[in-house]
Amino acid sequence: MAQANTDTTQSRRTFAIISHPDAGKTTLTEKLLLTGGAIHLAGEVKARGAARRARSDWMKIEQQRGISVTSSVMTFERDGITFNLLDTPGHEDFSEDTYRTLTAVDSAIMVIDAAKGIEPQTRKLFEVCRLRSVPIITFVNKVDREGRSVFELLDEIADMLALDVSPQMYPVGMGGEFQGILDFASGEVVVPEGPSKEFKGKRVAGFDLPDAIAENVELAQIGYPEFDIDAYRSGDMTPVYFGSALKNFGVTELIEAIAKYAPPPRPQPAGEEQISPDRDEVTGFIFKVQANMDPNHRDRIAFMRQVSGTFKRGMKLTPSGLGKPIAIHSPILFFAQDRELADTAQAGDIIGIPNHGTLRVGDTLSEKNQIRFTGLPNFAPEILRRVQLEDPTKTKQLRKALDDLSEEGVIQVFYPEIGGQWIVGVVGQLQLEVLISRLEAEYKVEARLEASPFATARWLRGDARAMDEFEKYNRANLAKDRDGDLVFMAKSPWDVSYQQEKNPELVFSATKER
Ligand code: GDP
Repeated sequence: MAQANTDTTQSRRTFAIISHPDAGKTTLTEKLLLTGGAIHLAGEVKARGAARRARSDWMKIEQQRGISVTSSVMTFERDGITFNLLDTPGHEDFSEDTYRTLTAVDSAIMVIDAAKGIEPQTRKLFEVCRLRSVPIITFVNKVDREGRSVFELLDEIADMLALDVSPQMYPVGMGGEFQGILDFASGEVVVPEGPSKEFKGKRVAGFDLPDAIAENVELAQIGYPEFDIDAYRSGDMTPVYFGSALKNFGVTELIEAIAKYAPPPRPQPAGEEQISPDRDEVTGFIFKVQANMDPNHRDRIAFMRQVSGTFKRGMKLTPSGLGKPIAIHSPILFFAQDRELADTAQAGDIIGIPNHGTLRVGDTLSEKNQIRFTGLPNFAPEILRRVQLEDPTKTKQLRKALDDLSEEGVIQVFYPEIGGQWIVGVVGQLQLEVLISRLEAEYKVEARLEASPFATARWLRGDARAMDEFEKYNRANLAKDRDGDLVFMAKSPWDVSYQQEKNPELVFSATKER
């Protein structure tokens, strides 16, 4: 049993793409699925996405802004490896969803536009990966267009991200001069062949490189560290690949690199313990909850990252938030965005579990109900707003909606100890728009958001006496979150440091782990 588990978990690659908007994430996703055989027509990801969006009211925001608020999971197989690609929303205004999705992957592909290099969003997402030492493969995209010099790009990645870079390829010319890509491992040049709209890569040994390029190739090989799989897997080095997602060029090499180097499912932290993927017991954690994926069903899907064991349909698992087992009768695997019933799943797989609000982000699911996964944080909101009801008789509906949506991780909600005006907190502006449109569409509640006197919030921890004492004198600045935990509402970052200094026995925490 344990042996069989080891074999299958070794064949899983669970990863996400991180990039700045427009770098080519959607195009690359499409080509990965195409190359992996999950879809048959290029363009299908976007076309289907558009059709789905049109059906759903609250997703209008996505349409208007041309962005994807909802994340999904795409699974494909190639040469005996199962790839689980977790989509992360790619807008600048990203939400906690994005962070949490990155807690559920074992590695990431960083896509960079060859003409633009490292952009702000790439950098932010990279920092989230670094927090958990997520290994990163870099894909420099759009080499079919005029781009910056290879050395400039490599040095920028190394300097801005403080990371060792190890080029695995060298583009033979870019833009109009583009002739192909030299693959260091084989010494072959992959050259475009066939119609220019979508060329196939043909491998040519003994390609006659122009002198200037031959010199640069030598410099690239001696000027940067050799690839070291341990350094890559600990997040200290990134191998760099070049290609064009649009022309489906270099994508096969990228998939092969993921198969060969990206780590299989990693052990996950549960307090002091590390839960190994080879453990017999089925365990996992919920990293995302999404409501109304299908507008015809008012259901919710909780996304579980499986950490260990062999899951079988109908199995009973105990969610940590519920304390009693539930039978998982209709788990969903996401094959290229189509819902499909899953019979079994392994460590590294993502399972969608339909439910009516019993499963929450941060919950552990397990057979024995003995472990709790840790490290799935809530982040202190950077934007806080008062919620003002248009129709005061709808207070109850509003409370239900705010509780639901905070459970999903769309917003955080704070109920002040004094006064009846509830406060919502978010990390990115976009979450506020999602809130307002979902309140209307799903709960028939019309609300406005108004300025609040608070700039940020901190979860309080400490011994009971110190907490009581603090509570007595600061009620005007205290609130409870959805779980009833005490939160200090700060008027400014200075306010936080001031209170922290005055109350050294309390912890003012910018994150809360469930
Ligand atoms: P996303 O915002 O990161 O998902 O980016 P998209 O995949 O939507 O791509 C943004 C734009 O860049 C689109 O117009 C794509 O057609 C274009 N694009 C993507 N990859 C390439 C590439 O390899 N070469 C060229 N020339 N254009 C590309």
